[in-house]
Amino acid sequence: MMTSIMHNDEVYDMYHSIEQSCNTILNETFSWGFFDFKRKVRFKVFPDLTFNARSYRGVFINTIGVNIGVLPLIHALAVNYAKLDYVCDFNDGKQYKREIVNGNIKKILATCYVNISRHSLDDDTISSFFDSDDMGDRYAVAYSVFEKMLYFFMLHEYAHLLCGHDRKSVEFGSHTSKSSERNTREYRQWQEIEADMWGAVMLCETLHLDMKPVDDSSFMDKIYKEIGLIYTSIGLLLMSFSFANPLAETIESYSVSLHPHPAIRIANAYETIHRYLELTSGLEVNILKDIMTQSLANLLTLAGDLDMPIYWILTGETENIYLELKRLRDNVSDKHVAETYKGMSSVIEKLHNNMSLF
Ligand SMILES: [Zn+2]
Repeated sequence: MMTSIMHNDEVYDMYHSIEQSCNTILNETFSWGFFDFKRKVRFKVFPDLTFNARSYRGVFINTIGVNIGVLPLIHALAVNYAKLDYVCDFNDGKQYKREIVNGNIKKILATCYVNISRHSLDDDTISSFFDSDDMGDRYAVAYSVFEKMLYFFMLHEYAHLLCGHDRKSVEFGSHTSKSSERNTREYRQWQEIEADMWGAVMLCETLHLDMKPVDDSSFMDKIYKEIGLIYTSIGLLLMSFSFANPLAETIESYSVSLHPHPAIRIANAYETIHRYLELTSGLEVNILKDIMTQSLANLLTLAGDLDMPIYWILTGETENIYLELKRLRDNVSDKHVAETYKGMSSVIEKLHNNMSLF
């Protein structure tokens, strides 16, 4: 049976309450005001099941919009990820068969990227999304991954607004020989890289990670776990964009897209977080590196199990990933990068001063 999400009061109430609670979270997180150029920003859930988000400017209010379909997908993804034994080393006696969990993840991604209809879901899909299995302690990990994915999703869109990506005219660096259409695509790809970078930094800040090490091992364990889950959440979300996408086979084929290849986005986000925590967390570099490596290894295990081409790119094409990042960076002017950096630094500073525990 198909359930329509349109003209359905229950569904309407549900997405309205999600919208309200996300707005409350954001307003509390950005205690200095969830504002953008003196305009208020609101979070809006759209009654559309496709996996998409957007941000746009209005006369009095700016909007970050996420389609309602994003929520059950990332929840189901997080729940299944937390069932994988190499991700969670709980001694809770719970055993989930790796092949079955991998199969679930494949089904969830296929539903969202291949078989989705905009406004209705069949009942089977609904039950696979809202897995009622009692996961014990693993649910805390699943919920944390879900929450961070949702936060990153919103903060990526917020970064687009803060960077003024919708308003900036196309402004290039030295590569004038290419066609302007190609340049525009590369510029859009660079905007995605910027939104990922600043979204990731804002995520670290909003999660109070700018704290100094203390002599309390359980507290430190918690911090390490939180950092690992930031990497995991961003990586899992970005990796899912490559599912069943024929363009994902090579980095080059993504040149027709307005988004960079997910492998490029993962490498960029991971490196940004690593550098940012290195500068601000006061934690040992080696420990930070270990956390990042472990999260990446887990992600790659999943990508390998699911037979995703991104596995080969992330493991065998590191050099090409960095060349592509550099190429996208070189396509925009130094002035553009410096302006964005300056604007975002003041946002991060405000966040840092208001959120910091020290
Ligand atoms: Zn974007």
